[in-house]
Amino acid sequence: MKKSLSPRRTKSPCAAQELARLAANLAASGSYKEDVFWEKQLGIKIEAQLRTSSDQNLEEALKLLYATDSAGYGEFIYAIETAIECSTLSYEGCTYDVLMFAAPVLASSRFSIPSGPIPEPTLNTFRAQFQTLLLFENTELSLADYLFSPDQLPRGYQLTHELAKKLCTAALSGGNLHMNPQQFSETENFLSDTRYILGAIAVRQGEPMFRWQETDITSQMNNGETDAEYSKQGIFLRWKIECNKVLRSLFQGCALDSVLPDGFFSAWRMADRLARPYSMHAMVNFLQSSLNIPVTDLRAVIAPFHGHSLEEYRVSFTYIDSDEVLYGIVWPLVGEEDETSDTITQIETTLQECGVTRIIQLDNRFPLESCEECGAPLFPNPEGEIVHAEFPEKGDKIQIQLH
Ligand SMILES: [Zn+2]
Repeated sequence: MKKSLSPRRTKSPCAAQELARLAANLAASGSYKEDVFWEKQLGIKIEAQLRTSSDQNLEEALKLLYATDSAGYGEFIYAIETAIECSTLSYEGCTYDVLMFAAPVLASSRFSIPSGPIPEPTLNTFRAQFQTLLLFENTELSLADYLFSPDQLPRGYQLTHELAKKLCTAALSGGNLHMNPQQFSETENFLSDTRYILGAIAVRQGEPMFRWQETDITSQMNNGETDAEYSKQGIFLRWKIECNKVLRSLFQGCALDSVLPDGFFSAWRMADRLARPYSMHAMVNFLQSSLNIPVTDLRAVIAPFHGHSLEEYRVSFTYIDSDEVLYGIVWPLVGEEDETSDTITQIETTLQECGVTRIIQLDNRFPLESCEECGAPLFPNPEGEIVHAEFPEKGDKIQIQLH
């Protein structure tokens, strides 16, 4: 009888130190050639970690770098993301570059925002538009047949890598990836939230993937077209219109706004950034219509909330003549944002766009506290205390917050 293997050790201080050392060397490199050398060494080690069943060593190395080397920390995150979303694969005698992508969609609804299996006709139309508007000729594409909510995305590096591998393999033959709906938990209902369509793109090694990588646009231009229409932004604007049309039947009763599909991590971060003002607009509309008041009757309170460092701002809404907090939203920091970023100006600008001009800004450092009973975050009132938001309408259970 075959002897069973002893469980593989997953946590190794040596492995974490080695990863951190390679990332620090990459950050300290003084030339492209040296960059390539360290990137390759680091990539091999990260791949080895992703093949084990745990994120522990990667997380340990991130902790080490966070404490000692911020440039190395940034390089390491980038290297992990690259190892997950990019592959080079062989198929029928050719070598392909393959990229896992995300196509995020921001949505808001007073009813419910869908998640779950995508019907085949919708997936096929989405595929056709994606290929025509965003991709170069001779690219192959796979799509997962599932609309993911943020809490249904794979958790952690290793699980994301597993999904990426399946999508990338499916892309080589241009097939879709079937997701078993039973593996996903029910998603919570928010007034405003993000959904993701995931897939992978495969091209012959070194070939471009996206239309905005076109180097000779003049040969592609039709009468009356300008360079701007072939820029990333111009292509995105055309995509946004068509994507919203394709997804309309899936998102009944919702307002929709598509984010530009891109490499998985980059699109994910962009969606997190854009979800903040989107959610603020949705909420101010909701407050006005539910309370039946003009926007000028609302006042906002902005305050910073800290864990080890600044993690998020929380914004409360009150009537203009009352200190009671009606509702609040969380504005988390995303990517490289920190206390030096001008987040408050972004929040104030968004509030002003929504028509809220009475704004109180608190400088106190608040702890990241939540209600012990329902888990809802606590919000600042104009007096500088953190309190439970109390919406006056009886029986209204819509919970408004960002992921
Ligand atoms: Zn509560």
